[in-house]
Amino acid sequence: MGIDYKQIMASARIAQKKWAERPADVRTKWLKKFQKYLRLNQNRIVEAIQADTHKPTAEALGIEIMAVTMTADYYQKNTGKILKPRRAKTHWIFKNKKVLVERSPHGVVGILGPFNLPFSLTIGDAIPALMAGNAVIIKPSEWTPKSAILGANLALESGLPPHLLQVVEGGAEAGSQLIENVDCIFFTGSTAVGRKVAMKAAELLKPCILELGGKAPMIVLADADLDRAAHACVWGRFAHSGQHCIAIERVYVAKKIAESFINKVIDLTKQLTPQELSPLTLPTAPAHLKELIDDAVAKGAAIKWQTVHGELPTPVHGELPTPVHGELPTPVHGELVEPRTGTTILIGVDHTMRVMKEESFGPLLPIMVFDTPDEALRLANDSESGLSAVIFTQDKIGAEAMARKIEAGNVSINDVMDHFMIIDAPFGGWKNSGLGVRHAAEGLLQFTKPKTIFIHRFSLPFLRNREFWWFPYTKWIEKILKALT
Ligand code: NAD
Repeated sequence: MGIDYKQIMASARIAQKKWAERPADVRTKWLKKFQKYLRLNQNRIVEAIQADTHKPTAEALGIEIMAVTMTADYYQKNTGKILKPRRAKTHWIFKNKKVLVERSPHGVVGILGPFNLPFSLTIGDAIPALMAGNAVIIKPSEWTPKSAILGANLALESGLPPHLLQVVEGGAEAGSQLIENVDCIFFTGSTAVGRKVAMKAAELLKPCILELGGKAPMIVLADADLDRAAHACVWGRFAHSGQHCIAIERVYVAKKIAESFINKVIDLTKQLTPQELSPLTLPTAPAHLKELIDDAVAKGAAIKWQTVHGELPTPVHGELPTPVHGELPTPVHGELVEPRTGTTILIGVDHTMRVMKEESFGPLLPIMVFDTPDEALRLANDSESGLSAVIFTQDKIGAEAMARKIEAGNVSINDVMDHFMIIDAPFGGWKNSGLGVRHAAEGLLQFTKPKTIFIHRFSLPFLRNREFWWFPYTKWIEKILKALT
Protein backbone atom coordinates (compact mmCIF):
# COMPACT_ATOMS: atom_id res chain seq x y z
CA MET A 1 0.00 0.00 0.00
CA GLY A 2 1.41 3.38 -0.98
CA ILE A 3 1.57 6.42 1.27
CA ASP A 4 -1.55 8.59 1.24
CA TYR A 5 0.30 11.88 0.88
CA LYS A 6 -2.92 13.67 -0.06
CA GLN A 7 -4.45 13.01 3.34
CA ILE A 8 -1.19 13.55 5.24
CA MET A 9 -0.56 16.89 3.52
CA ALA A 10 -4.14 18.06 4.02
CA SER A 11 -3.98 17.42 7.78
CA ALA A 12 -0.49 18.95 7.99
CA ARG A 13 -1.62 22.11 6.20
CA ILE A 14 -4.58 22.67 8.52
CA ALA A 15 -2.41 22.10 11.61
CA GLN A 16 0.38 24.33 10.26
CA LYS A 17 -1.87 27.35 9.66
CA LYS A 18 -3.02 27.39 13.30
CA TRP A 19 0.51 26.69 14.58
CA ALA A 20 2.03 29.55 12.59
CA GLU A 21 -0.56 31.95 14.00
CA ARG A 22 0.61 31.22 17.53
CA PRO A 23 3.31 33.55 18.85
CA ALA A 24 6.81 32.10 19.05
CA ASP A 25 6.67 31.96 22.85
CA VAL A 26 3.62 29.66 22.72
CA ARG A 27 5.50 27.34 20.40
CA THR A 28 8.59 27.37 22.63
CA LYS A 29 6.42 26.54 25.66
CA TRP A 30 5.64 23.21 24.04
CA LEU A 31 9.34 22.70 23.29
CA LYS A 32 10.21 23.17 26.95
CA LYS A 33 7.69 20.46 27.83
CA PHE A 34 9.06 18.21 25.09
CA GLN A 35 12.59 18.66 26.43
CA LYS A 36 11.45 17.41 29.86
CA TYR A 37 9.48 14.64 28.24
CA LEU A 38 12.56 13.41 26.38
CA ARG A 39 14.39 13.17 29.68
CA LEU A 40 11.57 11.20 31.27
CA ASN A 41 11.51 8.81 28.32
CA GLN A 42 15.25 8.32 27.90
CA ASN A 43 15.07 4.55 28.25
CA ARG A 44 12.35 4.16 25.64
CA ILE A 45 14.33 6.28 23.23
CA VAL A 46 17.56 4.36 23.83
CA GLU A 47 15.66 1.13 23.14
CA ALA A 48 14.26 2.48 19.86
CA ILE A 49 17.68 3.76 18.73
CA GLN A 50 19.26 0.43 19.57
CA ALA A 51 16.47 -1.49 17.85
CA ASP A 52 17.31 0.61 14.78
CA THR A 53 21.10 0.65 14.91
CA HIS A 54 22.34 -1.66 17.72
CA LYS A 55 24.74 1.14 18.73
CA PRO A 56 26.17 1.25 22.29
CA THR A 57 24.02 2.92 24.96
CA ALA A 58 26.63 5.67 25.50
CA GLU A 59 26.30 6.68 21.83
CA ALA A 60 22.49 6.49 21.88
CA LEU A 61 22.48 8.78 24.91
CA GLY A 62 25.25 11.14 23.78
CA ILE A 63 25.28 12.03 20.12
CA GLU A 64 21.58 11.13 19.69
CA ILE A 65 19.40 12.00 22.70
CA MET A 66 21.68 14.64 24.21
CA ALA A 67 22.03 16.34 20.84
CA VAL A 68 18.24 16.57 20.63
CA THR A 69 17.75 17.83 24.20
CA MET A 70 20.49 20.43 23.61
CA THR A 71 18.77 21.47 20.37
CA ALA A 72 15.45 21.74 22.22
CA ASP A 73 17.09 23.78 24.96
CA TYR A 74 18.75 26.15 22.47
CA TYR A 75 15.66 26.84 20.34
CA GLN A 76 13.42 27.01 23.38
CA LYS A 77 15.57 29.89 24.62
CA ASN A 78 16.41 31.59 21.30
CA THR A 79 13.51 31.22 18.85
CA GLY A 80 11.84 34.45 20.00
CA LYS A 81 15.07 36.44 19.50
CA ILE A 82 15.88 34.88 16.14
CA LEU A 83 12.41 35.41 14.68
CA LYS A 84 11.88 38.88 16.12
CA PRO A 85 10.71 41.23 13.35
CA ARG A 86 13.03 44.15 12.74
CA ARG A 87 12.62 47.61 11.29
CA ALA A 88 14.86 48.15 8.28
CA LYS A 89 17.02 51.29 8.15
CA THR A 90 16.19 53.60 5.26
CA HIS A 91 17.92 56.32 3.26
CA TRP A 92 16.72 59.80 4.29
CA ILE A 93 14.59 60.17 1.18
CA PHE A 94 12.45 57.28 2.52
CA LYS A 95 12.10 58.74 6.00
CA ASN A 96 8.34 58.89 5.47
CA LYS A 97 8.22 55.08 5.18
CA LYS A 98 8.22 52.32 7.75
CA VAL A 99 9.83 49.06 6.64
CA LEU A 100 9.28 45.88 8.62
CA VAL A 101 11.22 42.69 8.00
CA GLU A 102 9.53 39.56 9.23
CA ARG A 103 9.95 35.82 8.75
CA SER A 104 7.23 33.45 7.55
CA PRO A 105 7.41 29.67 7.70
CA HIS A 106 7.66 27.73 4.43
CA GLY A 107 4.57 25.69 5.29
CA VAL A 108 5.22 21.94 5.38
CA VAL A 109 8.85 20.83 5.66
CA GLY A 110 9.91 17.36 4.55
CA ILE A 111 12.83 15.81 6.44
CA LEU A 112 14.64 12.95 4.74
CA GLY A 113 16.82 11.21 7.33
CA PRO A 114 19.90 8.97 7.09
CA PHE A 115 20.30 5.62 8.82
CA ASN A 116 23.20 6.47 11.11
CA LEU A 117 21.66 8.96 13.59
CA PRO A 118 18.01 8.00 13.31
CA PHE A 119 16.84 10.06 16.29
CA SER A 120 18.93 13.22 16.24
CA LEU A 121 18.91 13.72 12.46
CA THR A 122 15.13 13.42 12.27
CA ILE A 123 13.59 14.65 15.52
CA GLY A 124 16.48 17.05 16.25
CA ASP A 125 16.10 18.65 12.81
CA ALA A 126 12.31 18.82 13.15
CA ILE A 127 12.68 21.12 16.18
CA PRO A 128 13.86 24.32 14.41
CA ALA A 129 11.44 23.63 11.54
CA LEU A 130 8.55 23.45 14.02
CA MET A 131 9.75 26.47 15.98
CA ALA A 132 9.76 28.48 12.75
CA GLY A 133 6.03 27.72 12.43
CA ASN A 134 6.10 24.85 9.95
CA ALA A 135 4.49 21.44 10.03
CA VAL A 136 6.98 18.61 9.47
CA ILE A 137 6.79 15.27 7.72
CA ILE A 138 9.74 12.99 8.41
CA LYS A 139 10.71 10.13 6.17
CA PRO A 140 13.37 8.32 8.14
CA SER A 141 15.77 5.88 6.54
CA GLU A 142 14.03 2.66 5.56
CA TRP A 143 16.72 0.88 7.63
CA THR A 144 16.13 2.76 10.87
CA PRO A 145 12.57 4.07 11.14
CA LYS A 146 11.70 3.26 14.77
CA SER A 147 13.49 6.14 16.50
CA ALA A 148 11.71 8.86 14.50
CA ILE A 149 8.33 7.17 14.96
CA LEU A 150 8.85 7.08 18.72
CA GLY A 151 10.08 10.70 18.72
CA ALA A 152 6.97 11.88 16.86
CA ASN A 153 4.75 9.97 19.28
CA LEU A 154 6.54 11.55 22.24
CA ALA A 155 6.02 14.99 20.70
CA LEU A 156 2.31 14.27 20.44
CA GLU A 157 2.15 12.90 23.99
CA SER A 158 3.92 16.00 25.29
CA GLY A 159 1.26 18.29 23.83
CA LEU A 160 2.29 19.11 20.25
CA PRO A 161 -0.96 19.62 18.29
CA PRO A 162 -1.87 16.61 16.13
CA HIS A 163 -0.62 16.35 12.53
CA LEU A 164 2.16 18.92 13.00
CA LEU A 165 4.83 16.24 13.14
CA GLN A 166 4.13 13.13 11.10
CA VAL A 167 6.28 10.20 10.03
CA VAL A 168 6.01 8.21 6.83
CA GLU A 169 7.96 5.06 6.10
CA GLY A 170 9.58 3.85 2.92
CA GLY A 171 12.65 4.14 0.71
CA ALA A 172 13.65 6.20 -2.33
CA GLU A 173 10.17 6.27 -3.88
CA ALA A 174 8.54 7.50 -0.66
CA GLY A 175 11.31 10.12 -0.37
CA SER A 176 10.84 11.26 -3.92
CA GLN A 177 7.07 11.64 -3.41
CA LEU A 178 7.69 13.58 -0.22
CA ILE A 179 9.73 16.12 -2.20
CA GLU A 180 6.84 16.54 -4.64
CA ASN A 181 4.41 17.29 -1.82
CA VAL A 182 6.19 19.49 0.72
CA ASP A 183 7.22 23.16 0.51
CA CYS A 184 10.83 22.80 1.72
CA ILE A 185 13.19 19.82 1.85
CA PHE A 186 15.78 19.11 4.53
CA PHE A 187 17.88 16.16 3.38
CA THR A 188 20.65 14.39 5.26
CA GLY A 189 22.35 11.51 3.48
CA SER A 190 24.88 10.57 0.86
CA THR A 191 26.19 13.03 -1.71
CA ALA A 192 24.96 10.80 -4.56
CA VAL A 193 21.34 10.83 -3.34
CA GLY A 194 21.68 14.49 -2.31
CA ARG A 195 22.33 15.40 -5.96
CA LYS A 196 19.14 13.62 -7.03
CA VAL A 197 17.17 15.39 -4.30
CA ALA A 198 18.63 18.75 -5.35
CA MET A 199 17.76 18.11 -9.01
CA LYS A 200 14.18 17.24 -8.14
CA ALA A 201 13.88 20.26 -5.84
CA ALA A 202 15.30 22.48 -8.59
CA GLU A 203 12.75 21.20 -11.11
CA LEU A 204 9.98 22.02 -8.68
CA LEU A 205 11.72 25.22 -7.54
CA LYS A 206 11.54 24.31 -3.86
CA PRO A 207 14.02 25.33 -1.16
CA CYS A 208 16.32 22.47 -0.37
CA ILE A 209 18.87 22.08 2.42
CA LEU A 210 21.47 19.35 1.96
CA GLU A 211 23.65 17.78 4.67
CA LEU A 212 25.82 15.31 2.78
CA GLY A 213 28.77 12.95 3.07
CA GLY A 214 32.20 13.74 4.49
CA LYS A 215 35.81 12.61 4.22
CA ALA A 216 37.23 14.31 7.31
CA PRO A 217 41.02 14.60 7.43
CA MET A 218 42.92 14.55 10.73
CA ILE A 219 46.28 16.33 10.70
CA VAL A 220 48.67 15.38 13.50
CA LEU A 221 51.53 17.88 13.62
CA ALA A 222 54.94 17.02 15.11
CA ASP A 223 54.30 18.91 18.38
CA ALA A 224 50.90 17.30 19.07
CA ASP A 225 49.95 15.76 22.40
CA LEU A 226 50.20 12.22 21.07
CA ASP A 227 48.15 10.52 23.77
CA ARG A 228 45.17 12.83 23.27
CA ALA A 229 45.58 12.69 19.48
CA ALA A 230 45.60 8.87 19.50
CA HIS A 231 42.51 8.68 21.75
CA ALA A 232 40.73 11.23 19.53
CA CYS A 233 41.70 9.30 16.41
CA VAL A 234 40.38 5.97 17.71
CA TRP A 235 37.12 7.47 19.01
CA GLY A 236 36.73 9.73 15.97
CA ARG A 237 37.17 6.79 13.59
CA PHE A 238 35.61 3.82 15.39
CA ALA A 239 32.64 5.31 17.29
CA HIS A 240 29.52 3.74 15.74
CA SER A 241 32.04 1.71 13.74
CA GLY A 242 32.88 4.76 11.64
CA GLN A 243 29.29 5.44 10.57
CA HIS A 244 29.37 9.17 11.32
CA CYS A 245 29.53 11.86 8.64
CA ILE A 246 32.16 13.73 10.70
CA ALA A 247 34.16 10.60 11.56
CA ILE A 248 37.88 10.76 10.85
CA GLU A 249 38.18 9.21 7.40
CA ARG A 250 41.91 9.77 6.77
CA VAL A 251 44.89 10.67 8.94
CA TYR A 252 48.00 12.67 8.02
CA VAL A 253 50.77 12.39 10.61
CA ALA A 254 54.15 14.19 10.74
CA LYS A 255 57.07 11.90 9.87
CA LYS A 256 58.91 12.64 13.13
CA ILE A 257 56.16 11.21 15.34
CA ALA A 258 54.49 8.82 12.89
CA GLU A 259 55.77 5.58 14.37
CA SER A 260 54.84 6.33 17.96
CA PHE A 261 51.45 7.79 16.94
CA ILE A 262 50.59 4.71 14.84
CA ASN A 263 51.65 2.37 17.67
CA LYS A 264 49.49 4.25 20.17
CA VAL A 265 46.51 4.15 17.80
CA ILE A 266 46.94 0.40 17.29
CA ASP A 267 47.25 -0.21 21.06
CA LEU A 268 44.00 1.67 21.70
CA THR A 269 42.23 -0.04 18.78
CA LYS A 270 43.19 -3.44 20.19
CA GLN A 271 41.47 -2.51 23.44
CA LEU A 272 38.07 -1.87 21.78
CA THR A 273 35.50 -4.44 22.82
CA PRO A 274 32.82 -5.82 20.49
CA GLN A 275 30.26 -4.00 22.67
CA GLU A 276 31.94 -0.67 21.84
CA LEU A 277 31.66 -1.27 18.10
CA SER A 278 28.34 -1.21 16.27
CA PRO A 279 27.24 -3.48 13.47
CA LEU A 280 27.27 -1.98 10.00
CA THR A 281 23.69 -1.10 9.14
CA LEU A 282 23.82 -1.32 5.36
CA PRO A 283 24.24 -4.82 3.88
CA THR A 284 26.41 -3.31 1.13
CA ALA A 285 28.91 -1.83 3.63
CA PRO A 286 31.23 -4.83 4.21
CA ALA A 287 31.74 -5.35 0.46
CA HIS A 288 32.41 -1.62 -0.04
CA LEU A 289 35.02 -1.64 2.74
CA LYS A 290 36.67 -4.75 1.27
CA GLU A 291 36.84 -3.06 -2.14
CA LEU A 292 38.59 -0.02 -0.61
CA ILE A 293 41.07 -2.22 1.29
CA ASP A 294 41.79 -4.42 -1.77
CA ASP A 295 42.31 -1.36 -3.99
CA ALA A 296 44.73 0.20 -1.48
CA VAL A 297 46.69 -3.02 -0.99
CA ALA A 298 46.90 -3.59 -4.75
CA LYS A 299 48.42 -0.09 -5.07
CA GLY A 300 51.02 -0.68 -2.36
CA ALA A 301 49.35 -0.01 1.03
CA ALA A 302 49.95 -2.35 3.97
CA ILE A 303 47.42 -3.63 6.49
CA LYS A 304 49.03 -2.69 9.81
CA TRP A 305 46.13 -3.95 11.96
CA GLN A 306 42.98 -5.89 11.27
CA THR A 307 40.47 -7.82 13.33
CA VAL A 308 37.05 -9.31 12.82
CA HIS A 309 35.13 -9.69 16.05
CA GLY A 310 33.63 -13.08 16.69
CA GLU A 311 30.53 -13.60 18.80
CA LEU A 312 28.49 -10.52 19.50
CA PRO A 313 26.27 -9.48 22.35
CA THR A 314 22.57 -9.82 21.61
CA PRO A 315 21.28 -6.40 20.58
CA VAL A 316 18.84 -4.73 22.96
CA HIS A 317 15.53 -4.79 21.11
CA GLY A 318 12.93 -2.49 22.54
CA GLU A 319 9.20 -2.44 22.11
CA LEU A 320 8.31 -1.29 18.65
CA PRO A 321 6.82 2.18 19.01
CA THR A 322 3.29 2.69 17.71
CA PRO A 323 3.30 4.49 14.37
CA VAL A 324 1.85 7.99 14.32
CA HIS A 325 -0.35 7.17 11.33
CA GLY A 326 -2.35 4.02 12.03
CA GLU A 327 -1.03 1.50 9.58
CA LEU A 328 2.34 2.06 8.01
CA PRO A 329 3.82 0.02 5.19
CA THR A 330 6.12 -2.79 6.30
CA PRO A 331 9.77 -1.67 6.23
CA VAL A 332 11.25 -2.34 2.84
CA HIS A 333 14.19 -4.23 4.24
CA GLY A 334 14.51 -6.86 6.90
CA GLU A 335 16.74 -7.12 9.94
CA LEU A 336 20.17 -5.66 10.51
CA VAL A 337 23.08 -7.37 8.83
CA GLU A 338 25.52 -9.31 10.97
CA PRO A 339 28.34 -9.94 11.67
CA ARG A 340 29.90 -6.69 12.78
CA THR A 341 32.96 -5.88 10.72
CA GLY A 342 36.24 -5.58 12.59
CA THR A 343 38.68 -2.69 12.52
CA THR A 344 41.35 -2.17 9.86
CA ILE A 345 44.32 0.22 9.91
CA LEU A 346 46.18 0.86 6.65
CA ILE A 347 49.58 2.50 6.25
CA GLY A 348 51.62 3.37 3.16
CA VAL A 349 48.54 4.92 1.58
CA ASP A 350 48.46 7.77 -0.95
CA HIS A 351 45.91 9.80 -2.91
CA THR A 352 45.85 7.42 -5.88
CA MET A 353 43.91 5.04 -3.61
CA ARG A 354 40.12 5.11 -3.31
CA VAL A 355 40.36 4.86 0.46
CA MET A 356 41.77 8.43 0.58
CA LYS A 357 39.06 9.83 -1.69
CA GLU A 358 35.78 7.96 -1.12
CA GLU A 359 33.80 8.04 2.09
CA SER A 360 34.26 4.59 3.64
CA PHE A 361 31.66 5.11 6.42
CA GLY A 362 33.09 2.14 8.29
CA PRO A 363 35.83 1.05 10.71
CA LEU A 364 38.67 1.55 8.23
CA LEU A 365 41.51 3.92 9.14
CA PRO A 366 44.14 4.90 6.54
CA ILE A 367 47.19 6.74 7.92
CA MET A 368 49.56 8.69 5.65
CA VAL A 369 52.88 10.29 6.67
CA PHE A 370 53.76 13.88 5.65
CA ASP A 371 56.98 15.91 5.66
CA THR A 372 55.76 19.48 6.10
CA PRO A 373 52.59 21.16 7.45
CA ASP A 374 52.04 22.72 4.01
CA GLU A 375 51.98 19.26 2.49
CA ALA A 376 49.46 18.13 5.15
CA LEU A 377 47.24 21.11 4.36
CA ARG A 378 47.41 20.42 0.62
CA LEU A 379 46.49 16.76 1.18
CA ALA A 380 43.64 17.65 3.54
CA ASN A 381 42.18 20.00 0.92
CA ASP A 382 42.68 17.50 -1.91
CA SER A 383 39.11 16.26 -1.53
CA GLU A 384 35.70 16.83 -3.05
CA SER A 385 34.23 16.80 0.46
CA GLY A 386 34.40 19.62 2.98
CA LEU A 387 32.31 18.72 5.99
CA SER A 388 34.81 18.69 8.85
CA ALA A 389 38.51 18.44 9.66
CA VAL A 390 40.69 17.93 12.71
CA ILE A 391 44.10 19.41 13.62
CA PHE A 392 46.27 18.27 16.52
CA THR A 393 49.11 20.54 17.64
CA GLN A 394 50.22 22.46 20.71
CA ASP A 395 50.72 25.60 18.61
CA LYS A 396 47.33 27.23 19.14
CA ILE A 397 47.97 30.27 16.95
CA GLY A 398 49.39 28.18 14.11
CA ALA A 399 46.43 25.80 14.41
CA GLU A 400 43.89 28.60 14.01
CA ALA A 401 45.76 29.89 10.96
CA MET A 402 45.72 26.39 9.47
CA ALA A 403 42.02 25.95 10.35
CA ARG A 404 41.21 29.07 8.29
CA LYS A 405 42.96 27.54 5.25
CA ILE A 406 41.13 24.22 5.46
CA GLU A 407 38.26 23.92 2.99
CA ALA A 408 35.60 22.59 5.36
CA GLY A 409 32.59 23.90 7.22
CA ASN A 410 33.83 22.72 10.63
CA VAL A 411 37.40 22.45 11.91
CA SER A 412 38.28 21.08 15.35
CA ILE A 413 41.57 21.84 17.04
CA ASN A 414 42.78 19.18 19.51
CA ASP A 415 39.26 17.77 19.52
CA VAL A 416 37.04 15.61 17.39
CA MET A 417 33.32 15.36 16.50
CA ASP A 418 32.19 17.23 19.64
CA HIS A 419 31.47 20.40 17.65
CA PHE A 420 28.23 18.74 16.50
CA MET A 421 26.90 19.34 20.02
CA ILE A 422 27.46 23.11 20.00
CA ILE A 423 24.01 24.19 18.96
CA ASP A 424 24.86 27.91 18.95
CA ALA A 425 27.33 27.26 16.09
CA PRO A 426 26.22 26.47 12.52
CA PHE A 427 27.04 22.95 11.34
CA GLY A 428 27.22 22.42 7.58
CA GLY A 429 29.40 21.20 4.76
CA TRP A 430 31.38 22.93 2.03
CA LYS A 431 32.04 21.57 -1.47
CA ASN A 432 30.20 18.27 -2.08
CA SER A 433 29.28 17.98 1.59
CA GLY A 434 26.18 20.11 1.36
CA LEU A 435 24.29 23.35 1.07
CA GLY A 436 22.87 25.10 4.10
CA VAL A 437 23.37 24.26 7.74
CA ARG A 438 21.71 22.91 10.84
CA HIS A 439 21.86 24.56 14.30
CA ALA A 440 22.23 28.21 15.39
CA ALA A 441 20.15 31.12 14.07
CA GLU A 442 20.91 30.10 10.47
CA GLY A 443 19.51 26.63 11.16
CA LEU A 444 16.16 28.16 12.12
CA LEU A 445 16.03 30.96 9.56
CA GLN A 446 16.41 28.58 6.63
CA PHE A 447 13.04 27.10 7.59
CA THR A 448 11.52 30.54 6.95
CA LYS A 449 11.22 32.99 4.08
CA PRO A 450 11.70 36.72 4.63
CA LYS A 451 8.75 39.05 4.23
CA THR A 452 9.24 42.80 3.86
CA ILE A 453 6.31 45.05 4.69
CA PHE A 454 6.79 48.55 3.28
CA ILE A 455 4.46 51.18 4.76
CA HIS A 456 3.94 54.74 3.49
CA ARG A 457 3.49 56.84 6.65
CA PHE A 458 2.93 60.42 5.49
CA SER A 459 3.17 62.58 2.38
CA LEU A 460 5.31 65.67 2.04
CA PRO A 461 3.26 68.90 2.10
CA PHE A 462 4.17 69.85 -1.48
CA LEU A 463 3.59 66.31 -2.85
CA ARG A 464 0.33 65.06 -1.45
CA ASN A 465 -0.72 62.39 -3.91
CA ARG A 466 2.56 60.93 -5.14
CA GLU A 467 6.30 60.67 -4.66
CA PHE A 468 8.43 63.09 -6.67
CA TRP A 469 10.03 60.28 -8.76
CA TRP A 470 6.67 58.88 -9.93
CA PHE A 471 5.08 60.02 -13.21
CA PRO A 472 5.22 62.59 -14.75
CA TYR A 473 8.99 62.63 -15.34
CA THR A 474 10.39 66.16 -15.62
CA LYS A 475 13.81 67.73 -16.01
CA TRP A 476 13.46 68.86 -12.42
CA ILE A 477 13.18 65.18 -11.25
CA GLU A 478 16.26 64.24 -13.26
CA LYS A 479 18.19 67.05 -11.61
CA ILE A 480 17.25 65.93 -8.11
CA LEU A 481 17.98 62.28 -8.86
CA LYS A 482 21.36 63.23 -10.33
CA ALA A 483 22.19 65.10 -7.14
CA LEU A 484 21.15 62.14 -5.02
CA THR A 485 23.02 59.37 -6.85
P1 NAD B 1 21.20 7.84 1.68
O1 NAD B 1 21.56 8.98 0.81
O2 NAD B 1 21.30 6.48 1.12
O3 NAD B 1 19.68 8.00 2.21
C1 NAD B 1 19.26 9.14 2.92
C2 NAD B 1 17.75 9.25 2.84
O4 NAD B 1 17.35 9.53 1.50
C3 NAD B 1 17.01 7.98 3.23
O5 NAD B 1 15.88 8.33 3.97
C4 NAD B 1 16.63 7.39 1.89
O6 NAD B 1 15.49 6.54 1.94
C5 NAD B 1 16.32 8.63 1.09
N1 NAD B 1 16.43 8.48 -0.37
C6 NAD B 1 17.16 7.60 -1.08
N2 NAD B 1 17.00 7.83 -2.41
C7 NAD B 1 16.15 8.88 -2.52
C8 NAD B 1 15.62 9.60 -3.62
N3 NAD B 1 15.93 9.29 -4.89
N4 NAD B 1 14.79 10.64 -3.38
C9 NAD B 1 14.48 10.99 -2.11
N5 NAD B 1 14.96 10.34 -1.02
C10 NAD B 1 15.79 9.30 -1.23
O7 NAD B 1 22.09 8.01 3.00
P2 NAD B 1 22.34 6.97 4.18
O8 NAD B 1 23.12 5.82 3.66
O9 NAD B 1 21.09 6.70 4.90
O10 NAD B 1 23.25 7.85 5.16
C11 NAD B 1 24.65 7.87 5.11
C12 NAD B 1 25.16 9.10 4.43
O11 NAD B 1 24.65 10.27 5.07
C13 NAD B 1 26.68 9.25 4.51
O12 NAD B 1 27.16 9.69 3.28
C14 NAD B 1 26.88 10.30 5.58
O13 NAD B 1 28.10 10.99 5.48
C15 NAD B 1 25.71 11.18 5.34
N6 NAD B 1 25.40 11.97 6.54
C16 NAD B 1 25.63 13.31 6.50
C17 NAD B 1 25.41 14.07 7.62
C18 NAD B 1 25.65 15.56 7.62
O14 NAD B 1 25.21 16.24 8.55
N7 NAD B 1 26.32 16.12 6.64
C19 NAD B 1 24.95 13.47 8.80
C20 NAD B 1 24.73 12.10 8.80
C21 NAD B 1 24.95 11.36 7.66
